[in-house]
Amino acid sequence: MLVNAYGAHAGDQPLQPLQITRRAPGAHDVQIDIAFCGICHSDLHQVRAEWQGTQFPCVPGHEIVGRVAAVGVHVHGFRPGDLVGIGCIVDSCKHCADCEDGLENYCDGMIGTYNFPTPDAPGWTLGGYSQQIVVHERYVLRIRHPEEQLAAVAPLLCAGITTYSPLRHWNVGPGKKVGVVGIGGLGHMGIKLAHALGAHVVAFTTSDAKREAALQLGADEVVVSRNAEEMAAHAKSFDLILNTVAAPHNLDAFLVLLKRDGTMTLVGAPATPHDSPNVFNLIMKRRTLAGSMIGGIAETQEMLDFCAEHGIVADIELVRADQINDSYERMLKGDVKYRFVIDNATLAG
Ligand code: NAP
Ligand code: ZN
Repeated sequence: MLVNAYGAHAGDQPLQPLQITRRAPGAHDVQIDIAFCGICHSDLHQVRAEWQGTQFPCVPGHEIVGRVAAVGVHVHGFRPGDLVGIGCIVDSCKHCADCEDGLENYCDGMIGTYNFPTPDAPGWTLGGYSQQIVVHERYVLRIRHPEEQLAAVAPLLCAGITTYSPLRHWNVGPGKKVGVVGIGGLGHMGIKLAHALGAHVVAFTTSDAKREAALQLGADEVVVSRNAEEMAAHAKSFDLILNTVAAPHNLDAFLVLLKRDGTMTLVGAPATPHDSPNVFNLIMKRRTLAGSMIGGIAETQEMLDFCAEHGIVADIELVRADQINDSYERMLKGDVKYRFVIDNATLAG
C-alpha cells in the first residue's frame, strides 16, 4: 500500500514529499491512519545524519497519534475507530529479560519507529511523517484524552515518556527538589510532569525570555543558567536533575547543584560528546551521573493514563507538512513553544 510521506534523501538535503510502502496488516498488526505527529529534536539529529547510521530515504517521526483503520485477525485489544498512539518503539525481541520486565526500550533487539532494520521495504523503518503506519499490537498505546486534545497528546509519545520514566525511576514526588534543564519539547513536559508528581520544580534555561512561561508550565522557580549568582543559590540542594539539553555543555555547572547522593540524569543526546565532568564533583558528595532512554510500553501507557487523569498535554504549535524544514530551523534557535506537531492531513495533497 502506497502512502504519502515527508522525508529526506540525504543528510544535507531538506525534507520533501515522497511516497512509501506500508505492509498489509498481519494477524497481530494494527493499521493506523495518522492524524498528527510531533517533531522531536531526535528527528532532526537523525535525518541530518548528525547521529551515525542514517539510512536514506529517511522518514522521521515517533510521536504518532491517530485512529485505527484496520486490525489483523488475532488482534483483540483494538478496534477500527479507536484513538491510539505509537511512540519510539515498533518491535523488540519479546523474550529477553528487558522485554519480560516491560522495558522493551532497553532490549538489544528494539526496533525504533524509524531508521531500524525491518523486513518491510525499503529495509529500514519509516516513521510518522506519513499518512499511515502498521504496527504489531504490543506496541500500540491507547489514548484516553478527549479527541479535541489529540494533536497536543502526540508529544507525550516521546517527550512525555522520556521525562516521565526517569522522574518515576528516581522516585520524584512530594518533598523532592527536581531541576529540569532546557525548556524545549522534553523539558517543558518534564516541568509539567514533575509538578504533577508533587515535587518542588526548578527550571533551568539559557533564555531569559522563557522565565515567565516556565512558571506557567508549573515550575516553582526559574534559573537562567548563565547567571552564576542564581546558580550558586541552589548549590548542593537537588535530589534529581533531569538534563534535556540537545547540545554539549558544561555538566559540572549542574553536578555541583546536587545534594549528597543526588543524581543528574541525561536524556539529551547531542551529536558530539560533553567535556568529561570533574570526577571530584561526583566523589565529594557520592553523586551519580546517569542516563535514561524513552520508556517501556507499559510505562508509556501508564504515563498516558496519568496525563489523561491530570489533564496534561503538551503546549504545541500545529504546522503543515511543508513547514517541517522551517520548524527544524526554529527548533535549533529555541523558537518553539514548546513542540511543533504536524497536521498529517496536509500530507494528502
Ligand atoms: P528541543 O525542543 O530543541 O529542546 C532542547 C532545549 O535545550 C532548548 O529548547 C534549549 O532550552 C536547550 N538548549 C539547546 N541548546 C543549548 C545549548 N547549546 N546550551 C544550553 N541549552 C541548550 O529538543 P527536544 O526535542 O526536547 O530534545 C532534547 C534532546 O533530547 C535531543 O538531543 C534529543 O535527541 C534528545 N532525546 C532523547 C531521548 C531519550 O530517550 N534519551 C528521547 C527524545 C529526545 P532553553 O532555551 O530553555 O535553554
Ligand atoms: Zn523523540
